[in-house]
Amino acid sequence: MTDCIFCKIVSKEIPSEIIYEDDKLIAFKDIDPQAPVHIIVIPKKHIKSLNELDQNDSTLIGHIFLTIKELVKQLGIKEKGYRVVNNCGELGGQTVPHIHFHVLGDRKFSWPPG
Ligand code: AMP
Ligand code: ZN
Repeated sequence: MTDCIFCKIVSKEIPSEIIYEDDKLIAFKDIDPQAPVHIIVIPKKHIKSLNELDQNDSTLIGHIFLTIKELVKQLGIKEKGYRVVNNCGELGGQTVPHIHFHVLGDRKFSWPPG
């Protein structure tokens, strides 16, 4: 999508601090971190939100989560615990309409979320 900020990160039109990339996904540092570790993981393919996922995306979503499992080791937060968040739609707090997963760590998170 031409005017999607995360598609522009994928195409490198917008610079970002990429920590991992493969043919299906990219992981980069959040520009406005909410924790000492705050990474955004996105599929390279433009999917607006979780609402737009279909059966064909199940391998992709599995790959994203298994990659997160590897990244948390690299980030040194695996044993301490961490949080993976998907905000969906307006009430869910989604501000970028390209599905993404926040990986947050290195501080204590409260529940319920704000
Ligand atoms: P959400 O509010 O769940 O849609 O999350 C969007 C996230 O993207 C926010 O945490 C933003 O700080 C982050 N973000 C927006 N633009 C950029 C960017 N250019 N580089 C890195 N992170 C970004
Ligand atoms: Zn996009």
